[in-house]
Amino acid sequence: MQQTHNSLFIPGPTNMPDRVRSAINKALQDHRAPDMPQFTRPLLNDLKQVFKTENGRVFIFPGSGTGGWEAAITNTLSPGDKVLASVFGQFSYLWVDLCQRHKLDVQAVEAPWGEGVPLNAYREILLADKAHEIKAVLVCHNETATGVTSNIASVRELLDQIKHPALLFVDGVSSIASIDFRMDEWGVDVAVSGSQKGFMLPAGLAIVGVSTKAIAANETAQCSRCYFDFADMIKTNNEGFFPYTPAMTLLHGLRESLDMIFEEGLENVFVRHNRMASAVRAAIEAWGLSLCAKRPELYSDTTSAICVPEGFNGNDVAKLAYQKYNLSLGLGLSKVAGKVFRIGHLGSLNELMVLQCLAGVEMTLSDIGISISLGTGVAAAQQHFQKTSQPIVLKEKFNAAM
Ligand code: PLP
Repeated sequence: MQQTHNSLFIPGPTNMPDRVRSAINKALQDHRAPDMPQFTRPLLNDLKQVFKTENGRVFIFPGSGTGGWEAAITNTLSPGDKVLASVFGQFSYLWVDLCQRHKLDVQAVEAPWGEGVPLNAYREILLADKAHEIKAVLVCHNETATGVTSNIASVRELLDQIKHPALLFVDGVSSIASIDFRMDEWGVDVAVSGSQKGFMLPAGLAIVGVSTKAIAANETAQCSRCYFDFADMIKTNNEGFFPYTPAMTLLHGLRESLDMIFEEGLENVFVRHNRMASAVRAAIEAWGLSLCAKRPELYSDTTSAICVPEGFNGNDVAKLAYQKYNLSLGLGLSKVAGKVFRIGHLGSLNELMVLQCLAGVEMTLSDIGISISLGTGVAAAQQHFQKTSQPIVLKEKFNAAM
């Protein structure tokens, strides 16, 4: 049979709901038309609810998460500025690399992959920085390469405790709109996201939340920037427009995805992600396998990186799943290449979709010779779903027809 449907369980891009797909399928329109602000203003405003910011603002740049990283640093810092960062996976590493290429003086603390933000090392370094030379502290909220979620509130607490004035920048590319994120409460100055994960859209938008402190820093920051300049964005957004041609179709998709998130309820979206992730974790445990994330408090509700036993290659698992079952799983990246494969469980996802993925993973693991019993992971996930489901009252009409 010709394969048409690829079961997409990578941690982004995620499944695009039909509603979003239809919303994108629009005739192109004039982005400088007089009624454009009626579309733009509520869109930008509603994004603030997802970032949980009242004081800050959210920008939408054509781009991807990487563009959002670049926007964060070039708008707020100057070449030679000291920044504190940490590397515990491929994405936290790449952000550091981007900072270095922009000639920032990066102190990057290395932590084992599978750990989260190294808070003790951050404390030591920030305490020693009596002259407050460190201008920004970077944290990857959800390290997609290892399936680790770090505690951003604890970083804010640390900065407040020692009264360090550094800006706090957070990579929320694979957390925002899927895992609870509180920009104002956690005192985040720049929060970076992208369209292709929790927002259930194609890649193409860098969505960036910015505090008033970060906007003030923009006035003196000397890093070169043009396309991603906050000042240009503010000027035109204030009028309800964009400084250049926006990705109109994606913006319509974003409108629909926000409507869907609000209809479900943002907090319910987080609960659903936790429920899907917990079912995946139940399956992993039933298979006798372990996560790359070292401790339960680090487990990510959007991505599970699953260690394969000695003698097996995680990338072979992903390859076989794709070739035999048309199931896309995430590869192990960089330091954990071969050691893990990943299941992305974020975005538009329900119980049966997760069970389908787990059934495919089980068959693949068994095909490859990893010793698991078929059905055990699926059963563990089913049990989790049953245990945690809301009671449903059958509708009368349906009963009558039976
Ligand atoms: N940060 C994290 C945590 C990611 O997972 C990714 C991509 O997967 C990025 C940044 C880079 O985003 P993009 O690929 O959209 O540029």
